[in-house]
Amino acid sequence: MRITVWNEYVHERHNPAVAEIYPDGIHGAVASLLAGGVTDAKVQTATLEDPEHGLTADVLDNTDVLFWWGHLAHHKVADEVVERVHQRVMQGMGLVVMHSAHLSKIFCRLMGTTCNLRWREADDRELVWTVSPGHPIAAGVAQPIELATHEMYGEYFDIPAPDELVFISSYSGGEVFRSGCCFFRGKGRVFYFSPGHETYPVFADPDIRQVLCNAARWVYQPQTSSIVIDTSPESPTGWFQTD
Ligand code: ZN
Repeated sequence: MRITVWNEYVHERHNPAVAEIYPDGIHGAVASLLAGGVTDAKVQTATLEDPEHGLTADVLDNTDVLFWWGHLAHHKVADEVVERVHQRVMQGMGLVVMHSAHLSKIFCRLMGTTCNLRWREADDRELVWTVSPGHPIAAGVAQPIELATHEMYGEYFDIPAPDELVFISSYSGGEVFRSGCCFFRGKGRVFYFSPGHETYPVFADPDIRQVLCNAARWVYQPQTSSIVIDTSPESPTGWFQTD
């Protein structure tokens, strides 16, 4: 399994408190946990400042699963790159969207909605409840996962109804949130997971690490159907399928 972890890598370079938690960047932390937990994975990283954001056609052609973290710089991601990622998802690449990447161009494009939500940064206690106990992404994780302090993300979360809902979070402030959502788009699988705010060491939590490793395996689809989904602007419908 060839995994690419993409991160805008802005907070870690400008906020010493974040750099202390993630000295190798959030991408470094996520890549490391995946390399340790997904035994057959070959993991590489890419960031905003790399040429073409590190997501060249060659990199994406050699990526089975893409992880995405972004927050401050969604608008700096070039539309051509978003288009390229979108086409790869349509053709079967898996995508795991983490935390504040709910407002990334690629996630909004795939959802077709605003993807807005309510939030509060006030050291809430978050409980991540499994609501789909047979789902592979929930395998082996505590019920609930407890994050002693985290940012609150609450409903209403403006996404289409998930094809599969795996987790719902509750917070000490009383809010709830659909925190683990699966979507099928084209031939690709997309998983959105909300834990992962930059000022908390969320990616060190063993259950969160387990969820991300499970997610990599769930979105990974080595088989490819003969159906080609044509998303080119020249296509009469933009979305028709040909064998
Ligand atoms: Zn956040």
